[in-house]
Amino acid sequence: MDRSTLCIHAGYKPGNGEPRVLPIYQSTTYRYGSSEELAALFDLQSDGHMYSRISNPTVAAVEEKVAALEGGVGAMMTSSGQAASLISVLNIASCGDNIVIMGNLYGGTTNLFLVTMKRMGIEARVASPDMPDSAFLSLFDSRTRLFFAETIANPSLAVFDFDRFVPLSHSMGVPVIIDNTFATPILCRPFEHGADIVIHSTTKYMDGHAVAVGGMIVDGGTFDWEGSGRYPELTEPDESYHGIIYTESFGRSAYIAKARAQLMRDLGATPQAMAAFLLNLGLETLDLRIRRHSENALEVARFLSGEKDLISSVSYPGLEDSPEHGRALKYLDGGAASGVISFSMKGGREAAMRFMDSLQLASIVVHVADLRTCVLNPASTTHRQLSDEMLRKCGIDPGFVRLSVGLESVRDIISDLKGALAKCR
Ligand SMILES: *Cc1c(COP(=O)(O)O)cnc(C)c1O
Repeated sequence: MDRSTLCIHAGYKPGNGEPRVLPIYQSTTYRYGSSEELAALFDLQSDGHMYSRISNPTVAAVEEKVAALEGGVGAMMTSSGQAASLISVLNIASCGDNIVIMGNLYGGTTNLFLVTMKRMGIEARVASPDMPDSAFLSLFDSRTRLFFAETIANPSLAVFDFDRFVPLSHSMGVPVIIDNTFATPILCRPFEHGADIVIHSTTKYMDGHAVAVGGMIVDGGTFDWEGSGRYPELTEPDESYHGIIYTESFGRSAYIAKARAQLMRDLGATPQAMAAFLLNLGLETLDLRIRRHSENALEVARFLSGEKDLISSVSYPGLEDSPEHGRALKYLDGGAASGVISFSMKGGREAAMRFMDSLQLASIVVHVADLRTCVLNPASTTHRQLSDEMLRKCGIDPGFVRLSVGLESVRDIISDLKGALAKCR
């Protein structure tokens, strides 16, 4: 079925007389008729819910929907996008191992990998999109466990070159994990381009209404864990689970089965049923929304590109003259590039702040990718402590504005931007 249909129907099929809408199963526990039936669950021999830290029927329905949208063999929802990134890595890397990451990841993910995981003994080696193949490959060694990148990077908006980096990583025997948050499975399905695991911050477009923090890990089921020979946690007995061997018991779903049976059990980064219900509501309209976000953003990006007296540069992969445009056409559905645009005000930090303070419709928030147009200026908020010179060293222009184009009428959005720009002249 088409993705627009899966958005509405995948994951939940009510029986005769059951609620048409996915119910919120607000229960931590599940009843069984005999100890034997429960024991079979504990041995992972039969399917079913035993305790909501590990699984819950509302959450399971949404997991199935996202797995269907991405074309994966299974998915696990987490309490946040950060928890999804964390578990996706810890599932196949431990102390003494290393991972290779793209240098343009979301700031929260970069902190997780470069600071917190470092303290856990996992080293992150930083790659960049423009480095030659040989330099990229030299980052890998026998202890490298995975390569991690974003489809559309937040906030640089670089579009990941799947056809180049996926075969390189596979040639080193290592799977590719893709954060597909900005693209969503509507604009890009990373598994179709060879990626092995997909993660999401569902907090952004999937939810779409800014109501619930959440994350998702999706298993593509294609990576050959046995053939690679460097993932004993999947191919050798798990002592914490009666010596189960995940690749033997779960085949293509080994990775996601282990993430739940072992890491969700132990770490407890569990989503609430209510959060899953709200995410499901968002997913039902995702196809419609992300296309409209992309259409609105393209018009807004074109408008901003014309304001050359005040704006020095506009980045949006959907723009024909963007260096990302070729990859956007290749990997994103029809070149549709989501609602996020970044641009730089010629007048620096002060101009960016005056512009943002003059907006009437768009709000200043620490968020992106929901239905309300919003803006953020890193220099005056998230990177406020840095001088202009230090900001430039980090690759951030002091006048840089990240604009998340919402679902309001694009005429109203542009007239708001026009009004605010006029105050800067
Ligand atoms: C927001 C975000 C995250 C983190 O997700 P949370 O749900 O806030 O924990 C990860 N990756 C990207 C690309 C994001 O934009």
